[in-house]
Amino acid sequence: MELYRLDISEARRLLDKKEITVKELIDSIYQRVDAVENKVKAFMTIAKDHAYKMADAPQKTINSGRSLSLSGIPIAIKDNMCTKGIRTTCSSKILENFIPPYESTVTSRLKDNGYILIGKTNLDEFAMGSSTENSGFFTTRNPWDLERIPGGSSGGSAAAVAADECIAALGSDTGGSIRQPASLCGVVGLKPTYGRVSRYGLVAFASSLDQIGTITKNVKDSAILMNIISGKDSCDSTSAPVAVPDFTRVLGHEIKGLKIGIPREYFIEGMDKEVETSVRDAIKKLESLGAIPVEISLPHTDYAVATYYVLATSEASSNLARYDGVKYGFRAEGKDLMDMYMNTRAQGFGAEVKRRIILGTYTLSSGYYDAYYKKAQQVRTLIKTDFEEAFKTVDAIVTPTAPTAAFKAGEKADDPLQMYLSDIFTISVNLSGVPGISIPCGFTSNKLPIGLQIIGKHFDEESLFKIAYAYEQSTAWHKRRPNI
Ligand code: GLN
Repeated sequence: MELYRLDISEARRLLDKKEITVKELIDSIYQRVDAVENKVKAFMTIAKDHAYKMADAPQKTINSGRSLSLSGIPIAIKDNMCTKGIRTTCSSKILENFIPPYESTVTSRLKDNGYILIGKTNLDEFAMGSSTENSGFFTTRNPWDLERIPGGSSGGSAAAVAADECIAALGSDTGGSIRQPASLCGVVGLKPTYGRVSRYGLVAFASSLDQIGTITKNVKDSAILMNIISGKDSCDSTSAPVAVPDFTRVLGHEIKGLKIGIPREYFIEGMDKEVETSVRDAIKKLESLGAIPVEISLPHTDYAVATYYVLATSEASSNLARYDGVKYGFRAEGKDLMDMYMNTRAQGFGAEVKRRIILGTYTLSSGYYDAYYKKAQQVRTLIKTDFEEAFKTVDAIVTPTAPTAAFKAGEKADDPLQMYLSDIFTISVNLSGVPGISIPCGFTSNKLPIGLQIIGKHFDEESLFKIAYAYEQSTAWHKRRPNI
């Protein structure tokens, strides 16, 4: 087997048995990148020299017989997490040449664990989008069908994992940006509980919703990565002082007797029939494994998209005020300071980012604050309460991840509202702060992957892993690879 096809555990086994070296594994990954990247375009930056420099230390650790779980494992990082000395663009012209002077907490934890940074992956500019078409540079392609988008905003990370251009990746998820591209690319994507993973060094989009998580070839790899990136960080006051269990321990546990909520509001008109059939089959599968499906209601679901777009844009308008041509990256000419600010922002930001800054500035402005921002915060509480009520009777909730499989590039690019609906099933999870995972659960007749979303209680990623793993081990969807 080609080494680039390995998952984390298998690579770990071969490295530890000295059947392969870290360098051979990196060679294989870059051979793969050379072969497919011109078609997939997953990466903003390929960190080849840096990766080989990183290889010595983990190889020594392995040779000493004391390897850590990621010693020598090639991983790709979404380009909105700061990597010291390596360009971090957020796929925005305004940060095109920004080289961070510091390391994000997640990548520094991966580093301490011996990972190899393969490269930084493409995204919708500042993580605003569902297709990577909003990248300030280029659109990533779906490895299952190059005419289609990989989802977004972590489309580069999801495509890189699906195309075997890395062993695993990190993404970020504000309204669905890990789960939706994972679903569209046929890989596993986990958005942890808000506060489970430090956001220090993650370029902020909407701080009360943003969360870093994993994109992997299977459920076990996600648990392995979560063991490393989770936990309280003194640099992020919103990271929670909650104990981090060994997430791999629950893998293989029975799911017999677990109650799984099926929300009525998530099986809506407009949902693709093939998606619905696959998700319904997946529910039957879980039932055959002993889980008990229970119909539930999340009555405020209808308001989620509107609530999200008020809150996310409000927070974004504030967070993005810092890009003024003075402190970071790009600076345009101007006849005076104000002119320089305006030119920098006019030239540096793309259309979607500007749209959101304008919308968010409006919803926060004094005359409209009560009508929009405050109202949206109130509705957010109602949405969160829906989940709390549901979790009084069920252990987890199962839904489709996205209403359709991957769409064609250009199909929704000119219609922001259509694009916003891509996240209709994932957004409430961020508004409530609970964790959600997307796993492959079938294919359309066009051979495009379909994803199943499992949602859990706050800080109960373990139930997600248990259910997701049980499902994965009794199906073969995750073993299919795109023919690229
Ligand atoms: N697609 C959603 C948006 O455009 C979610 C993005 C994300 O999760 N970062 O805001």
